[in-house]
Amino acid sequence: MAPFVHDFEDGNREAKDLLGGKGANLAEMTNLGIPVPPGFTIDTESCRAYLAAGTMPKGLAAEVAEHVTTLEGKTGRTLGAAADPLLVSVRSGAKFSMPGMMETVLNVGLNDASVEGLAAQTGNPRFAWDSYRRLLQMYGKTVLGLDGEHFEDAMDAIKSGKGVTGDLDLDTDDLRALVTAYKGIIRDGSGADFPQDPTAQLLGAVEAVFNSWNSDRAVLYRRRERIPADLGTAVNVQAMAFGNRGLDSGSGVAFTRDPATGARGVYGDYLQNAQGEDVVAGIRNTMTLEDLQRIDQASYDELVAIMDRLEKHYKDMCDIEFTVEDGKLFMLQTRVGKRTAEAAFRIATDLLDEGLIDEDEALQRVTGDQLAQLMFPHFDHTGARALLAKGMSASPGAAVGIAVFDSDTAVAKAADGIPVILVRRETNPDDLHGMVAAQGILTSRGGKTSHAAVVARGMGRTCVCGAEALDVDTKAKRFTTPTGLVITEGETISIDGSTGEIFAGEVAVKPSPVVQYFEGSIAAENGDPIVKSVHRLMAIADSRRRLRVRANADNAEDASRARRFGAEGIGLCRTEHMFLGDRRELVERLILAEGAEERQAVFDELLPLQREDFIEIFRSMDGLPVTIRLLDPPLHEFLPDLTELSVKVAVAEVTGHAIDKDTKLLAAVHRLHEQNPMLGLRGVRLGIAIPGLFEMQSQAILEAAAIVTEQGGHAFPEIMVPLVGAVEELRNIREEISEAAHEARVKHSVHLDHLVGTMIELPRAALTAGDIAEAADFFSFGTNDLTQTTWGFSRDDVESSFFSRYMEAGILGVSPFETIDRVGVGRLVRIGTDEGRRTKPGLKVGVCGEHGGDPESVHFFEERKLDYVSCSPFRVPVARLEAGRAVSGGGSDTR
Ligand code: PEP
Ligand code: MG
Repeated sequence: MAPFVHDFEDGNREAKDLLGGKGANLAEMTNLGIPVPPGFTIDTESCRAYLAAGTMPKGLAAEVAEHVTTLEGKTGRTLGAAADPLLVSVRSGAKFSMPGMMETVLNVGLNDASVEGLAAQTGNPRFAWDSYRRLLQMYGKTVLGLDGEHFEDAMDAIKSGKGVTGDLDLDTDDLRALVTAYKGIIRDGSGADFPQDPTAQLLGAVEAVFNSWNSDRAVLYRRRERIPADLGTAVNVQAMAFGNRGLDSGSGVAFTRDPATGARGVYGDYLQNAQGEDVVAGIRNTMTLEDLQRIDQASYDELVAIMDRLEKHYKDMCDIEFTVEDGKLFMLQTRVGKRTAEAAFRIATDLLDEGLIDEDEALQRVTGDQLAQLMFPHFDHTGARALLAKGMSASPGAAVGIAVFDSDTAVAKAADGIPVILVRRETNPDDLHGMVAAQGILTSRGGKTSHAAVVARGMGRTCVCGAEALDVDTKAKRFTTPTGLVITEGETISIDGSTGEIFAGEVAVKPSPVVQYFEGSIAAENGDPIVKSVHRLMAIADSRRRLRVRANADNAEDASRARRFGAEGIGLCRTEHMFLGDRRELVERLILAEGAEERQAVFDELLPLQREDFIEIFRSMDGLPVTIRLLDPPLHEFLPDLTELSVKVAVAEVTGHAIDKDTKLLAAVHRLHEQNPMLGLRGVRLGIAIPGLFEMQSQAILEAAAIVTEQGGHAFPEIMVPLVGAVEELRNIREEISEAAHEARVKHSVHLDHLVGTMIELPRAALTAGDIAEAADFFSFGTNDLTQTTWGFSRDDVESSFFSRYMEAGILGVSPFETIDRVGVGRLVRIGTDEGRRTKPGLKVGVCGEHGGDPESVHFFEERKLDYVSCSPFRVPVARLEAGRAVSGGGSDTR
C-alpha cells in the first residue's frame, strides 16, 4: 500500500495533489538545501480517507510514529521528553492556498514535565511557559472546539490585574498562572484534562486539521475561489523553530517583490520575539525588513539571498514565512505569492525582461479577471477631499460605502443593496463573509501581510490596513481620527487601496489609466508601468489568438468604443431600441393595423429612420463585419402596461370620454398578453406573424450599407435571425430578406455582399443544426437563451431567487449564465457546431451571449474551434487576452 506519510526529503514541488502546496514546497526547499526545520507531510489521501470514513485510516498512527522516530533521530531530541524535548508544529496545507481558512497547532509535545525541560534547556522559563500557554490555547480552540474568547478573557484578566496591555508585559509567573487558568478552561469546557501524552496531542492536532477542511469558512472560501470540495488537506508536522525565544528571535513574512504594485525589491513584515501567527494576526504592529537588517544583518543577508534564489528557482514572485531562532534563520514556507491585478501584470513583464520567463509564460501569468479589475475606476484626486488618515495600501481600487464595524452587519446591509466598508481593528478568518460582502476593508492594525490584506488581495477587494491613527471601537461601532472626529456606523467613507488614504464622505471616481489607454487617450509609451505592461501583454495575446473578438453594440457610440478596445466587428447589434422612444407610437399603429396596406404605411415611416441608425453604425465599423439581429423581444414590451391602460380606459369609459384608439389598444394588449413571453411570440416567430416586418428591417440594413458604400465606405452586413428552431422558419424569412435585397439593388447601383445567418439559441436549433445550416451563411450561439431553454431557468428571475441556495448546496459552483455549462449547454454548442459544419464545411460560427466575455467560457469556445466571440465593449480586451491565453497555454486553470 502507498504510504500516507512522506519525509520532506521525499517530495518536490510538483507533488501538490498529494502533499498540498505547503508540503510540496517545503520538500522542494529541503532538497534545494535551504534551511528548513526537518519534518514530514501526512498526505491528502489520508485526509480524504479520514473524511470519508470519519475515523483515522488504518495504519496512519503507526506511520506517523515511525516518522516521529526518524525526526527524533535527525534532531537528537525526543518528542515531549522531560529534558530537552522535541516540539513540533502541525499545519494544514491544501493543494490550493486557502490563507487562514484551516487550522494550525504549534508547540505540540509540551506538557507539565517538558515545559520545565524546555525552560532549563533554553535557560528561558518565560519562553517555555509562553509556548505552553500558546499550545493550550490553540489546542483548546482547534482540537477541542472551545470558544477562543474564554482564553482571551483569561489573558485580559491577568493583564488588567497587573495594569498592563501588551503580551510582552507578562512575566513567567503570569504565564504560569495563565497556563493554570487555561487548563481549567479546557477541563470545564471539554470535560477532560489537557492530554499530557505527546502522541495523543499530535494525533488530536492532525485530526483537527483534517476536520478544518470542512469548517464553514473553508467551505465558503472554496466556493468563492472555485476550489473543488473533495481535495482534502495535507498536514505538515515539523520540528519547531522558535521565534519567541527573546529579542534575538522573531517571525516574519516576506515577498520577493511588492505584492500590491509588483515593484521590484524585497518586501515584508517582521516581528521580534513572536511566533508566526502573531505577525499575520496583526496583534502587534510589525517592523519592516529594513528594521531586521538593522538588528540582525546576518539573518537579513541570508534571507535576501534565499529569496533571490527562490525567485530564480520558481521563476515567479514568491512569498515566504520565516523564523529567526536565536539568530539562526529558518524557512517555514514558500509558495508562488498571491498578488493584485496590477502586480500580476507588472511582474509578468518584468520577469520577461529579466529573461526568467518567455512571452507565452508571461501571458499565462495574468488573467482576464485581473485585466477587468484594472479597468475599474480610481478616485479623482483633483476635487476637494477630507482626508481622515492614511494607512497601508494593501489592495488597490477605490471603494465608497457606509462604515460598518462587524461582518454580520456588512452582510445584512450589502444584501439591502447598500455598499459598505468593513472597518475592523484587524480581521480574522471569521470575517470572511463580511469581507466578501463589503466594497472595501479598512483595518487599524496589521501590515500588508495581515489577514485582511492577504484575503482582500486574493478576492480583488480594495483594502487599506494598519491605519494606526484611527482608534477603532467595534463595540461602540465607531472610529475616532487623530483630530477627534468620530465616524459612526452608517456614515459614508471612501478608501483608496492604492494610496492607503481614507476620506470622509463620497469621493468622486475617474476612469482607470488602463481604460484611458484602451480608449486611446493615453499612449502606451506615456503610460505608467501598468499601462505599459498591459500594452505589451495584449500585443502578445493578439499575436497568439485564433479566435476573433467582436462586440455587442447597438449604436454608433458603443461600436466606436468597442473598436477602440480592439473589437474586430460587431457580433450582435440588437435592434429593439430602434422601435422605442418616439417610434413606439408607430409600433402601436403596426399592431392595430388592419391589413397589409396599413402595415406597409407604418413600415414606410420606420424604414428611413432605421436606415439612418444603420448608416451610423456601418460608418463607425467601416471595413469590419456587422451582425444585425432582426427584432427579437416579445411584442408586448413595446406596448403600454396592461394595468395602466386598463385603468385609463375604465376611467375614460366612466367619464364618457373613451378614446377609440385606447380601447382598441387595450384589446390588442389583452390579445398579446402571454403567460411565458420568453417562450412566446418573439424572435423569428414575430417575423412570420407580422409579414413585412423583417423585410423592412432588412431593407433598411441593406440600403444603409449601399449608401455607405456609395460614399466610399466599406459595409459588411450580416443579417441574423433570432430564435430559430427549425430550418423552415429560416427559409421563410430568407425569402423576405431576398425581397429586401432585390429592392435595395433596384434603388442603389453598388454591388453589395451580405450574409444571412441565424442564432442558435434553442436546443432544437442545436440538435437540427445540420438542416439549419443548409439555409444559413453563419451561426451565432445565443448562449443566454440557450442556457435559459436548456436548463429551463428563467434568465431574468432565477439568479436573484434561488441560485444562492443552489450554490450553498453545491448544486451549482457558478451561475451557468455567467460561465458556460460545458457539460449541458456546452454539449449543444458542440453538436450545433459540428453538425452545422458537416453540412457546410467552414461554416462561420460565433457566440454572442454574455459568455463571449467570460474568461473560462472563452477557453471553451477556443476548444470547440468557434470563429469568434462577441461581448460587451468593456469585455473586449478581456476576451482578447483570454483568447490568446487559451492558445498559448492550452488550459484555463489560472489559480
Ligand atoms: C442570447 O440569447 O444569448 C442573446 C445574445 O440574445 P438576447 O440576450 O438578446 O436574448
Ligand atoms: Mg437570445
